[in-house]
Amino acid sequence: MAFDPELATRAWMATFSGAARAQSDAYFEGGYVITVVDALITIAVNLVLLRLGWLARLSAWAGRGPKGPRRPWAHGLRFAVPYLLLTTAMALPWTIWTSFVREHDYGLSNQDFGAWAGEAAIAVAINSIALSLLFLGVHAAIRRAPRGWWLGATALTTAGLTFFVLVSPIVIQPLFNRYTPLPEGPVRAAVLSMARANGVPADNVWLVDASRQSKRISANVAGLAGTTRIALNDNLLKQPADEVRAVMAHELGHYVLNHVPKFLLQLALLAALLFLFLARALPWLLARFGARWGIAGLDDPAILAPALMLLSAATLVLTPVFNTIVRTQEIEADRFGLNAARAPESFAAIAVKLGQYRKLEPGPWEEAIFYDHPSGHSRVLTAMRWKAEHLGEPDIR
Ligand SMILES: [Zn+2]
Repeated sequence: MAFDPELATRAWMATFSGAARAQSDAYFEGGYVITVVDALITIAVNLVLLRLGWLARLSAWAGRGPKGPRRPWAHGLRFAVPYLLLTTAMALPWTIWTSFVREHDYGLSNQDFGAWAGEAAIAVAINSIALSLLFLGVHAAIRRAPRGWWLGATALTTAGLTFFVLVSPIVIQPLFNRYTPLPEGPVRAAVLSMARANGVPADNVWLVDASRQSKRISANVAGLAGTTRIALNDNLLKQPADEVRAVMAHELGHYVLNHVPKFLLQLALLAALLFLFLARALPWLLARFGARWGIAGLDDPAILAPALMLLSAATLVLTPVFNTIVRTQEIEADRFGLNAARAPESFAAIAVKLGQYRKLEPGPWEEAIFYDHPSGHSRVLTAMRWKAEHLGEPDIR
């Protein structure tokens, strides 16, 4: 009988069923609600602070110096840091529930509360510094060009993102995990062999101790130009060697297909769109509510609050666009990986394992809107179609 990719896919889907499948679906579908509530909480927290007049008072305090008004950048910084810490604190119960309690409920986390809280504090510190700096730059652009500032803001954001990606493997990632060279052995040899065969200038593969945080299997390509690094995590390394090879071939695909620079370019376009929206919507919002909130104009640093409200509403609406940009790259890397590793069954096995925390068989719209990676079903079907076209070749049985 001829090999039927659809039937083979259905057989793979049947290997993950029952209570485990129901739990994975519930976990992932809960994520849809969390995405929406995240945006609503940001909007609610800011609205409360604005209506209470706290942000007007914070801004007035931040602008007052011992010898008269402070310079705009000092005013902005003295507003932004306490504001970001205050809003983070207000959303803290929700953050603890979504990223600590819920992860434990579903058995996905390996961390106790102290370890989680320590890492969360580091992340908040990094985010606050990065956001404050970006805000100071954008606010300077607003004061200088009250109409065309969105162009300068886009340039600054893109430069910031590029810098972040560039230094992330050297400065950010080591704050959370230990990266060590993958020891000599068949896995390392197989990955480096695929790298040489596909023109990837890698002489090292890194192992990251992700099991200190979670049970998830994963690998990644990080960095840019000289800082590029291919890493797999220790949860993945516990899987059969052919499955590891199938995943690493996918990661090499990200590198060969230049996905990081392309992604930065796409993010720059999204940033331009978002800032253009802000440049139109902020003056409109201030004209209606500025007096009630105590914000006189765009040069008041307190506009950070209405700006973040508008941004979280806009990014929520753009979620399917963002997910589709990422998912498209992932599909490309899957195809590259199948061609490079020639292990469709191992790739299918990993795709089903990832179904433990990503709903395995969504509807087509559900996948288009909420998935930043292809679903397990899509991935297995891709692998089985590849296999159907290569059956009979010496290494494909
Ligand atoms: Zn990927």
